[in-house]
Amino acid sequence: MSLDAAGVESEWWDQRQLADRFPQFRIGEGVEVLWQKDTGFLYASACVLIYLQLAEAHGAEVREDTSVIEINWQETYPEVITNGERFQGKKVIVTAGAWTGQILSDLNLPLTVTRQQVVYYRPTDANLFQRDRFPIFLDVTWNEVLYGFPVFGREGVKIARHGMGQPVSPDTYNRTPDPAYIEHIRSFLRERIPDAAGEALFAQVCLYTETPDEDFIIDTHPDCTNLVLATGFSGHGFKFASLVGRILSEMALEDTTGFDISPFQLTRFEK
Ligand SMILES: Cc1cc2nc3c(=O)[nH]c(=O)nc-3n(C[C@H](O)[C@H](O)[C@H](O)COP(=O)(O)OP(=O)(O)OC[C@H]3O[C@@H](n4cnc5c(N)ncnc54)[C@H](O)[C@@H]3O)c2cc1C
Repeated sequence: MSLDAAGVESEWWDQRQLADRFPQFRIGEGVEVLWQKDTGFLYASACVLIYLQLAEAHGAEVREDTSVIEINWQETYPEVITNGERFQGKKVIVTAGAWTGQILSDLNLPLTVTRQQVVYYRPTDANLFQRDRFPIFLDVTWNEVLYGFPVFGREGVKIARHGMGQPVSPDTYNRTPDPAYIEHIRSFLRERIPDAAGEALFAQVCLYTETPDEDFIIDTHPDCTNLVLATGFSGHGFKFASLVGRILSEMALEDTTGFDISPFQLTRFEK
C-alpha cells in the first residue's frame, strides 16, 4: 500500500471500530475502513493569499485582473500578451488551470474541463461535525467517490462527489448547482451519515481540468523549452501546490528539477 511504502502510519478498522470512534457513520458489515490519524485539509483561499504575499515579498509583481490573451512561444524568449501590454521573459510558466488548453491551443493538450459541485448540508447537531469529532473522509463504497469535511469556514457539512462531471467550456459553463445533484448526495448522506442529511445551505459549481490518466502535466513546451507548463491537475492538485511551485521555479531558474517529473511528461500521451 502507498502509505506503507511512504512510511506513513495507518490502521484498518472494521464497522465496530468506526462506530466507536465516529458514530456519525453507518457502514455495512464487512466494509473495511482505512484510518490515517494525520489527515488534514487546506484552507485554499488563505493559502493562495499567502502564496501571493510571499511572492511579492520575494520581488514578484502581481498583476490582478489581467487576462493573458496570447503567448507567443515561437520567439526564443516567449512573449506574453495581455490587454494592452506585452511581457517577455527568459522563462514563462503557464498555470492557467481550465484555460490552459485555450492559451496553448497549438499544443492540443489532452485536457477535458469538467463541471463539479460541492454542497454544504445542515446537520442535526453541528457539534457532531466539528473538527475534533468528525474526520475528513472519502467513501468508495457507493459506486462513486464521495468525500466530506468537518464544519469549517462556513455553516454546514461540506460533501461532494469526486469526478463524473460533464465536460464544459470554462467560459460558458452553468454556474447554478443542480437540484438533482444536491438530492443525489443527500440520498448518500441519508444512508451513510444520516445526521448530516439536512437541507442544503450552500452549493457551488467549480471546474476540474482532467487528463486521460488523471495525472498532472508538468513539462516544457515541446518546441520552446523556455515555456514551462503545469496543468491537468484532475481535481487533486491543490495539496501539491507548494511542491509543484518549487518544481516549476527550479525548472525556470535551473532548467531542470531534482524531483522526478517523468510521470507528468506530455510524451506519455503519444504512446
Ligand atoms: C470542487 C473541487 C474540489 C477540489 N478538491 C481538491 C482536494 O480535495 N484536494 C486537492 O488537492 N485538489 C482539489 N481540487 C483541485 C484543485 O483545486 C486544482 O487541482 C488546482 O486548483 C489546480 O491548480 P491550477 O493552478 O492548475 O488551476 P487554478 O487553481 O484554476 O488556477 C488557474 C489560474 O489561472 C488564471 N487564469 C486562467 N486563464 C487566464 C488568463 N488567460 N490570463 C490570466 N490568468 C488566467 C485563473 O484565473 C486562475 O487564477 C478541487 C477542485 C474542485 C473544483
